[in-house]
Amino acid sequence: MPADAPTESDLRSAIVAASSRVIALGLSQGTSGNISVRFGEGFLVTPSGIPPEDLAPEHIVPMDFAGRHAHPLAPSSEWRFHRDILANRPEVGAVVHAHPPYATGFAICGREIPAVHYMIAMAGGPTIRCAPYAPYGTEALSEVALAALEGRSCCLLANHGLIATGADLAKALWLAVEVEALCRQYAIALQVGTPVVLDDAEIARTVERFKSYGPRTIDAGSKTGRAS
Ligand code: 13P
Ligand code: ZN
Repeated sequence: MPADAPTESDLRSAIVAASSRVIALGLSQGTSGNISVRFGEGFLVTPSGIPPEDLAPEHIVPMDFAGRHAHPLAPSSEWRFHRDILANRPEVGAVVHAHPPYATGFAICGREIPAVHYMIAMAGGPTIRCAPYAPYGTEALSEVALAALEGRSCCLLANHGLIATGADLAKALWLAVEVEALCRQYAIALQVGTPVVLDDAEIARTVERFKSYGPRTIDAGSKTGRAS
């Protein structure tokens, strides 16, 4: 483990904090939603059925990729899709699952999100797919979720909610917020008129541009001192 890698204790605290943020941001309510973070030879996942206000770092359940754990609390009922995403997508370090109102509204209609805003590029492609319905907590749900995530960092789950992934927990939570914002904007646009969909080539270019998006280091030699 690199010297500056977060410890298990750091990650447990980060998962508890992120679980509260999910509720505060209006992305879920009650005990809906769950979070996992890759750690060691497996992952850490929220326990099932505990509301974030009652959640403590010691409640977080360590699991291995065979789905085994030795914690007194049961892991999230969705541990299968957390396990399967982390096992199949090496670039993913964290998974956030939530039931946000706008994203879930589209998911209830089984509708994928088209490229109505350039920010769809954050999903890694020109659509956010909606996985067909499968009952919560099942391997069937994990299978349809993995398929919907092919080449993407997020997806909707029909009649259920969304999954957002990221290299770390902060990025996965950021993405969940952005997907819900995009779904809200799309819902408004559908009421205002006929949304204009950007073409696939433009989204492909934006996916590339996003790879260098973010705070730039200040070039010390620059006359303006502005980020380049
Ligand atoms: P858990 O409380 O078991 O994590 O379930 C919540 C949920 O969102 C199921 O899809
Ligand atoms: Zn759920």
